[in-house]
Amino acid sequence: MFTGGLNQHPECRWVRPVKSIQFSYASSADLGSLFEDFRLMCNDAIRIAIDEKPKSRFRLIKEAYPRLKEYGLHTHYILSACEVAFAAYRNKDRKSDPYVRRVFLKVTSQSYRLDHIILRIPTRPRDYIYLTLHASDYHLSLIDDPTLKRGSVTITDRTVSLAFSKEVTIGEPLGHIGIDVNERNVTTSDTLGNTSVHDTSRVAEIKERYRAVRAKIGEKTKQDQRISQELYVKYGKREKNRTVQVLHCISKEIVERAKENHLGIVMERLKGIRRLYRRGNGQGAPYRGRMNSWTFHEIQRQIEYKAGWEGIPITFVSPRHTSRNCSNCGTSQKFEGRTTICPSCGKTEDRDVNASKNIMMAAPTHAAQPPGGGGEGEP
Ligand SMILES: [Zn+2]
Repeated sequence: MFTGGLNQHPECRWVRPVKSIQFSYASSADLGSLFEDFRLMCNDAIRIAIDEKPKSRFRLIKEAYPRLKEYGLHTHYILSACEVAFAAYRNKDRKSDPYVRRVFLKVTSQSYRLDHIILRIPTRPRDYIYLTLHASDYHLSLIDDPTLKRGSVTITDRTVSLAFSKEVTIGEPLGHIGIDVNERNVTTSDTLGNTSVHDTSRVAEIKERYRAVRAKIGEKTKQDQRISQELYVKYGKREKNRTVQVLHCISKEIVERAKENHLGIVMERLKGIRRLYRRGNGQGAPYRGRMNSWTFHEIQRQIEYKAGWEGIPITFVSPRHTSRNCSNCGTSQKFEGRTTICPSCGKTEDRDVNASKNIMMAAPTHAAQPPGGGGEGEP
């Protein structure tokens, strides 16, 4: 995902973060037949692969080319169908049916044209389909930004997703912001002396509410598996959208603050839900565990890709002792409710603030990692 001088001197590193943006679009009948032709091409190529057992994708292209050319589509689709087919052929032992039912089209940046919100994709030689993308102000700001480079476009029957990339330099940060993600909130502390607490209890509420909804669906639709499946999918999507939205506001605010103040981001390296046991506050129900684990990973994922896009360096540090030790003198402390009391220096502090300060200070100077993330919304 990232290219370029990662091994150069820290002051002049640059990376190329990638961001994928999804658009809905006005469908067209022409596109329906293109999808169907492409699906048939893929399946022809899979059949040829099973018969001829090609050693490589290029071998398959050679074998399948004359047959696929009969469809009369742009050569681009022949290569693309062979790519899909070769992957399906190689995975055929893992799936009982290797054939393609639902397709997506991937069109490389050389083959499409995007003029504001009109996307032109090739079909037959000198023949094109024009799709009108539904774009929000945010979408438009990316489309019309001349500094962004456009990558390939992926089209499904519902969405068009377009990859953007840009070149960013990662400077040495002027300070750090430590982020503690826990089951109640996201707490940050930075080297400028600021602390912020972002309440995440709404995420837990939304999740609890939808859990009740799911239980009700199960009860009411016992007789009809198909209807209950449909409802689960519908409510599951709504739940995900709402929780992701809440977390987006938080991650956006944190990343903006880091950007404005030229701060590197420091987070704990989370592995599974081990952290929950460490916190050990008696909520051992597996459901709560999964929910919290999801929230931790989602908030970190969002911060990581947003920071990556802005060229903000990110460091992951070990979660060992971040909540127990005093952020002032490093002594192992006692908890009294939500407060830590240091037996050595006498400092009392909110335990989440204390943890975020320890995380902030765990960042080694001159050793921040190049940002990760990117690729949001890839199908
Ligand atoms: Zn202390």
